[in-house]
Amino acid sequence: MLSYQHIYHAGNLADVQKHALLAWMLDYLTRKDKPISYIETHAGRALYDLSSAEARKTGEAASGIDIARGWFAPDHPYTRVLSAVQKDQGPSSYPGSPRIAVDLLRPMDSVHLAELHPQEAQALRTAMRGTGAKVHVQDGFEMAQSLAPPEPRRGLLLIDPSYEIKSDYARLPGIITKLHRKWNVGVIALWYPILKDGAHRQMLRALEAQTFPGALRHEVTFPPARDGHRMIGSGLFVVNAPFGLADEAAFLDRKFAALG
Ligand code: SAM
Repeated sequence: MLSYQHIYHAGNLADVQKHALLAWMLDYLTRKDKPISYIETHAGRALYDLSSAEARKTGEAASGIDIARGWFAPDHPYTRVLSAVQKDQGPSSYPGSPRIAVDLLRPMDSVHLAELHPQEAQALRTAMRGTGAKVHVQDGFEMAQSLAPPEPRRGLLLIDPSYEIKSDYARLPGIITKLHRKWNVGVIALWYPILKDGAHRQMLRALEAQTFPGALRHEVTFPPARDGHRMIGSGLFVVNAPFGLADEAAFLDRKFAALG
């Protein structure tokens, strides 16, 4: 039974790190006039209302995107999507990763999104209507394995689990190794939380031991969203990281460091 709902956390500082780097990578990959595949294992509903009762209950966006919005230049791909979504859906709307992807991708690109939670999947379908994105109500890991290697071969896979199932930490290095073997040119980006108890560390040791090509590990820390909150930072591990991603990550380091 899945209980995680991203609406409670949309626009928090972890989303800012993940979504800014995702937008940057998609912008980079679409500079070439060749189609790409975008695959996402844990898509969520793609569109969030930050004025909803759920979002206001945690208030995470107030210490997240509300502060971070000013970090990014108007022509940054993350800002471009934020502006487009607010224009389209209203000032309190926030894009999830699938919406960021479809806004930055072109008609020639292909998009596959997995979402297992029935209500989230229904909302995702609604948000993706008319975009050409394929929504799979299926386990995201299974979908990714069945699509790899996708056509077109160039592209990016985002793995953004909620880590409700604790065994995900132990399973992920093996899952990513298998996906990389099947799709050696694919950019694979794994998001993970940095928790007080260090639950992510063993997974990162196992991933780094694989010596993937172009591996980039980027972590930022921030004050917990509220007292007793276990998450104190956010990480992205990228295989075949696009050229220039390290500079974008360093830009984020400076911004997060200034939060204190
Ligand atoms: N990637 C989204 C974004 O950045 O906007 C947020 C996704 S949220 C962290 C994780 C989502 O994965 C939840 O909506 C949850 O219902 C879904 N989920 C959990 N287990 C899943 C699985 N095995 N396969 C597909 N979706 C799953």
